[in-house]
Amino acid sequence: MSDATALALEAREAVLAAIDAHERFLLVTHENPDGDALGSLIAMQALLTALDKDSLLVIAPDDFPLPREYSFLSLDGLVTGPPPDLELRTVMFLDCGNLDRNPLAPLLDGGSLVNIDHHHDNTRFGAINYVVEDASCTAEIVWDLLRATGVELTTAIAEALYVGLVTDTGRFSYENTTGRSHEMAAELIAAGVDVAAMYRRIYEEIPQAKLALLCRALASLRIFADGRLATAVLTAQDFAETGAEDNHSEGVIDHLRALSGVKVAMLVRELSANARGAQHKVSLRATDNDVDVSAIARMHGGGGHRRAAGFTSDLPTSELIDAIRAQV
Ligand code: AMP
Ligand code: MN
Ligand code: MN
Repeated sequence: MSDATALALEAREAVLAAIDAHERFLLVTHENPDGDALGSLIAMQALLTALDKDSLLVIAPDDFPLPREYSFLSLDGLVTGPPPDLELRTVMFLDCGNLDRNPLAPLLDGGSLVNIDHHHDNTRFGAINYVVEDASCTAEIVWDLLRATGVELTTAIAEALYVGLVTDTGRFSYENTTGRSHEMAAELIAAGVDVAAMYRRIYEEIPQAKLALLCRALASLRIFADGRLATAVLTAQDFAETGAEDNHSEGVIDHLRALSGVKVAMLVRELSANARGAQHKVSLRATDNDVDVSAIARMHGGGGHRRAAGFTSDLPTSELIDAIRAQV
């Protein structure tokens, strides 16, 4: 057994022991929660509830409205800030690679954090760090914990886990998709997931504003480095004029990544005036292992996976594109 495997097994035992030992939990994820973030939160809460534990989910006010495609998932015990009984709760982070990815983190007790994640650059900020780099999604780790605790896989839990699985694997198409991801899918389908209905909810039923935003993004397409770098930009004006929400840019970058010859895709979004901190959110995607976009993102204070990463920045768009051109 490799050292990494031994450490992961030890961390898994520590997570199970923490679940056993504590009665109250607070579940947290990263800002702008995606399908894996929400699916993992909901499934973990259901696991805890099945074990007669009390848990709250905390999502910052800035993250609302949550993406429409996940609105069918029901969120119980939702709070938008630290609850009054915070000291009594074990804080569990799911799908969050570092504490900077949640503006609420400084308000949460730093003493006994449980960190459950699959980002290879996770900063191991918890007292317990259960980081499984080869898990396709955090939901896959929660699924494993569910099996370990013997909690019944209800249709509701299966749907939440499926949302994490299908979104983080790019509908079972990214390199993180493994036989285990498909075994998990098979089990979730057996537990009642309706694949076609889920597809329709998550990837179709697109609001017109989202399609209008995609048109703007595609119109801004620029190609550099002999076709190896594709960039697109969405300004605050694009969002305002199309009536799109911040999260409507989800999926735009996949169109750039899909271009023939492209090695790196880059999307720069201007955050709306009321959004926290930095002015621009940059998303990066790589099509193979020649470029590790998480390394580029880390140079700008962000992070992520080798083929999908991001960061926020105050630099103007043109300087951001120049910087990525130079780094690629
Ligand atoms: P996105 O481009 O927002 O879809 O993010 C792609 C990946 O990059 C996700 O897996 C995130 O975990 C990671 N990521 C995005 N933004 C940041 C950030 N500011 N800091 C660290 N990781 C990030
Ligand atoms: Mn995520
Ligand atoms: Mn994830």
